[in-house]
Amino acid sequence: MRAVVMYASGDVRVDRTPRPTIVEPTDAIVRLAATCICGSDLWPYRGTDHVDHQPMGHEYVGVVDEVGSAVENVQVGDFVVGSFFASDNTCEICRAGYQTHCVHRQPGAQPGAQAEYARIPLADGTLVATPGTPDPDLVPSLLAASDVLGTGWFAAVAAEVGPGKTVAVVGDGAVGLLGVLAAKQLGAERIIAMSRHADRQALARDFGATDVVEERGDAGVARIKELTGGLGAHSTIEAVGTQESMMQAIRATRAGGHVGYVGVAHDVALPGEEMFFSGVHLHGGPAPVRRFLPELIKLIWDREIDPGKVFDLTLPVEQAAEGYRAMDERRATKVLLTF
Ligand SMILES: [Zn+2]
Repeated sequence: MRAVVMYASGDVRVDRTPRPTIVEPTDAIVRLAATCICGSDLWPYRGTDHVDHQPMGHEYVGVVDEVGSAVENVQVGDFVVGSFFASDNTCEICRAGYQTHCVHRQPGAQPGAQAEYARIPLADGTLVATPGTPDPDLVPSLLAASDVLGTGWFAAVAAEVGPGKTVAVVGDGAVGLLGVLAAKQLGAERIIAMSRHADRQALARDFGATDVVEERGDAGVARIKELTGGLGAHSTIEAVGTQESMMQAIRATRAGGHVGYVGVAHDVALPGEEMFFSGVHLHGGPAPVRRFLPELIKLIWDREIDPGKVFDLTLPVEQAAEGYRAMDERRATKVLLTF
């Protein structure tokens, strides 16, 4: 099969590798309908994270091709959506809605999801079947549910977004944009997207943003305060993962408000004294996408939401290297790869 492998930073290739096979009786093999490149794939691409011949990808939708002898909830031929961690969905942590912290968690698509086939461990807990074979135009949205939509949704839930609230969104990548969509669905009254890119601002407005703030850092915080009577947002979504973005999110939030942070933290250090006096709630981390999949699949199936619009470049998998370049150079927000 064809599979995307990152040999080293900046060096992405498409290799011929063996199709994965069932290892544990709880595994399923999925033939992917499409896959995509994640903003977090840029950390190793840019050399921030070490990488050495790594099979890439963790977002997937597709058709179950084979199941292990213990799999009961999905069958060969089912169209399924999974997410980046496999989880049993039965342990106490899973039942509390924190499947990314499952006591049996492991990578969701092995060896990687930017490939024609992937092995999905703990298939019964991890995979959610759609009501039938989706129309082709629904595939990008279902793929978005696998990570970026589920992650943006969790950020909004963690930030306690709800009716009557003002929400600020730090980060205009796919997760931030879908955080806007989630905030809209969850009933936010006002949604302030922080972005300085015209195309992303337009998509943010399309997803439900009522205001756009172009300033960053302290100037961005000052602008949010200005727009909220000096108080700050009730709920802030942090979807970047840097020191600057995290502090921007915390400082843009009013006392008693909530920050939902889902940008993978890189060298973020929180100042204890400032946190103590801020009165702001922080919650986040790797999103338990599995918690939200049934609800998100239904919204997509019923065509209530169209998160697939975040894909602004579609390439055949052979051109994966160009997809990485386009995202690295911010020529594309999110790249969908086809087989
Ligand atoms: Zn579990």
